Amino acid sequence: MGVIRRNFDYIGSPVLAGLFAVLFVLESKFQLRRRVQNRWKRVKVNAQVAVPSFALLRFIFLPLMVKLASRNQHICTRLGYFLPSHLLRQILAFFFLDYTNYLWHILNHKIPLLWRFHLVHHIDKDLDLTTAFRFHFGELIGSIFYRGAFTYLSGATPLTVIIYEIAFEAATEFHHSNTRLPLQLEQTLNKVMVTPRMHGIHHSVNKCETNSNFSVIFSFWDRLHGTLNLNVNQDDLIIGVAEYPGADKFKASELLMMPLMKG
Ligand SMILES: [Zn+2]
Repeated sequence: MGVIRRNFDYIGSPVLAGLFAVLFVLESKFQLRRRVQNRWKRVKVNAQVAVPSFALLRFIFLPLMVKLASRNQHICTRLGYFLPSHLLRQILAFFFLDYTNYLWHILNHKIPLLWRFHLVHHIDKDLDLTTAFRFHFGELIGSIFYRGAFTYLSGATPLTVIIYEIAFEAATEFHHSNTRLPLQLEQTLNKVMVTPRMHGIHHSVNKCETNSNFSVIFSFWDRLHGTLNLNVNQDDLIIGVAEYPGADKFKASELLMMPLMKG
């Protein structure tokens, strides 16, 4: 698995750590939404929830996706087989992976069993950079089968899979951050990619607002399917899930047990 070490560990991880540092400073200096919880307490809880997911991502999820990608190269029917150039096939595979993740995000909201796990991410009563890492490891386990199948069908090479994963993590850091970008800059970026104001609306306690803005990297999947909503003032947003007004009291251990405990 040298491809993971060379590209994810030596290049992707430092890039993601650098982006984290920049966004952490930016969201401290240019805050978008008012905080309702103590920032450092949340850093601690969200980091603890993130540790098992990180380990799973690096040592099980990524090796599995890379293995599937290395096997799919012989299939004549794979996506993009008709395209003449290798580069074009990989660009198509990259878009395809992002589109299937848009659909996977919707399934996480619509299927009760998946929502139990995705809920741990959504009940955070503030939305910032640390929320980007607050994913229950069970959500990642569930996604292995779905994302594995589409990685196999996409015709992506192991390198494309790694590049997509780095882009996925970078976009997740960016759109969860509580950074107030100049409105015009955000509107321009949002024509192509998911931005902090756009994703903030997805984390609203208002169900109609939660059921919008499911895209991960590219914003056009929401535009295409009519699930885009940009018409909410960030000052009016209440972040979290209405049924969990006391979610700020949960410890990391309680959050990790939550999907197994609930009804
Ligand atoms: Zn969601």
